Amino acid sequence: MTTLYGVPALSQDDFNRLTQINPERTPFTWEIDANSNQRVDPNEVIIRDGFKKKSYVKRNEFTEQFKSAYLTLVEFKRREVVERSLAEANDVRVPVDFSSVRPEEKEMIKHIMAASKLIDALYLEQTGAAKLLPQMESLKTMHPESYALFERNRGPWCEAPETASDPFCNAHPNFPKNEPGVYPEGLIIDEDFCASLEGDVASPMTIVKDGADSIYQAIPYHVAYQGYVEAIAIELEAAAESIKNVEDEKLLNQYLLAAAESFRTDEWLPSDRLWVSMNGSNSKYALRIAPDESYWEPCQGKAGYELWFGRINTDAVEAAQKFDSIKYDLEDQIASLTPYYDARDIELEVPSFVELALVTGDGDHPRGGMLGQALPNWTYKETGFRSNIFLGIGRNPEAREMLHKKASLLLDPDTMNYFSTDDFHGDMNVAGHELTHCLGPGLACAIVNPETGEPVLNEDGTPMTIKDKIGGRKALGLEEFKAETGNIFLIGYFLERGLITEEEAKQRYVRQLMWALKKISGLASSDNTMSTYTNIAAKQVNWLMDEGAIWYIDGKFHINFERYHEAITKLLALVLKAKTTGDESAINQLFESNEPGSPVYENIHVADTAQKTSGFPGMSYTYEVVGIDS
Ligand SMILES: [Zn+2]
Repeated sequence: MTTLYGVPALSQDDFNRLTQINPERTPFTWEIDANSNQRVDPNEVIIRDGFKKKSYVKRNEFTEQFKSAYLTLVEFKRREVVERSLAEANDVRVPVDFSSVRPEEKEMIKHIMAASKLIDALYLEQTGAAKLLPQMESLKTMHPESYALFERNRGPWCEAPETASDPFCNAHPNFPKNEPGVYPEGLIIDEDFCASLEGDVASPMTIVKDGADSIYQAIPYHVAYQGYVEAIAIELEAAAESIKNVEDEKLLNQYLLAAAESFRTDEWLPSDRLWVSMNGSNSKYALRIAPDESYWEPCQGKAGYELWFGRINTDAVEAAQKFDSIKYDLEDQIASLTPYYDARDIELEVPSFVELALVTGDGDHPRGGMLGQALPNWTYKETGFRSNIFLGIGRNPEAREMLHKKASLLLDPDTMNYFSTDDFHGDMNVAGHELTHCLGPGLACAIVNPETGEPVLNEDGTPMTIKDKIGGRKALGLEEFKAETGNIFLIGYFLERGLITEEEAKQRYVRQLMWALKKISGLASSDNTMSTYTNIAAKQVNWLMDEGAIWYIDGKFHINFERYHEAITKLLALVLKAKTTGDESAINQLFESNEPGSPVYENIHVADTAQKTSGFPGMSYTYEVVGIDS
């Protein structure tokens, strides 16, 4: 990126356009970029008649007055881009009414709300955005859009596809770099840095500081964030106290107390155990408060604090019961796709269908929002997983209509016959994804040598995991690849077993393809060509097209349903092979480039797809607890 005065350099077009806003203050024109260095130089500027040249250029150097005028232009440009980025998504409010719950529960919810504010503040410490907050306050009145964007993205860095890679897109006038607070300041957090972290400094619940002799030092979260974790623990204990006499919320009471303790110690196993045992039959509520996912930071190793809270919707549970009755058969089916993995006695909990009312910290995604989550991430070997499907997102009429319009631009009429905005299909696709995380080889599975069938060992004699072999980022990517491909596999499996109708199966395939097309359209506009889900979606569509399960006719996608299940089964087998053996050709195939101009990019018609869906704004959801007096 070209810079001038430490901020992104204005292009010639922008420079000359922006000088018109306040011509008295910026009486100059950038005539030509003579040395083609893409920033303005003193000898390239013409000062308008009637103004003193030496106020701006002296001895072929820019003066302080020029610098200050230039920085004003940069600020104009920054505000334009921020406003554009903000307009890329509509704010959608999702209110959830708790006015009819018992007084004790209202009291509990108040404390959970207080804890959720603390979680947000704590998460900003993790991301490094917290230290920028004081300066953002002053922008509240000066440029409310900057403040609103900071609030939405919980930091000054842009996320919306059209503007994310624009160097001027920053909610903060000093253009601070995105430097996570969990790592030492001023470092370049790249693959080499991430790979250099071992032992305690690589632990998901420590922050890394510079230590003596330039050896990094690990500080446990509960020490580094002592003030926050104590305040959160106190709120959780108060929430527990509020419901201690509520007979049908005993388990929630225990979880609140156990979580308080976990915040103080970083020992999450006891509270995770309780959490996994909770479901719609033993609590009306769903609450998660813990350090969970690590996608938010470049090394994908540190757990981000999150809180989500809502009510369990019992109607949807019935539909999901069918998963539990077939879990061993399903595990056998998946194991049969790879010779290097033996079926386990897996535990599948029926997912909780949660009407979210509060989401803060790492769970609060600025665009679209979370659809579901299977947790815990760090103790699941001892506890098993609990899957959660989040209801609410996309349930507003505006979102449904938009999805329908997009589908009719992207799908051919035959395929469009099976397009449905019924929430059930979307929910079941999310459920299938989360359930597949519990099936087949897991995140830390040890790899085997495909020639000998023997376990591969590290230098120290311990079994080599897929993470050891290909790194955490790719290993996580493979796990998501398994879940997202497994979900499509499940559709055909259910159909074969007579658990869903052909119509329903087709509708779910179409909805899933719409998800994939939405993801891959992002490839055209920003530098997220390797972001996890975008890559998965691109590879899936590419594979299905190669296998003749998707055709591209007259600029639209057509599903050849006859070939779909077979093609996706082969892809799942490839993912499982990669995951269980670390096989390089399989890995390369799954992670090859999706950049503009690459064969995949061309084959799946990214440019066309992106162009057709470009005019639609995204949705930024804000959950809201209502019916509780504060
Ligand atoms: Zn997943």
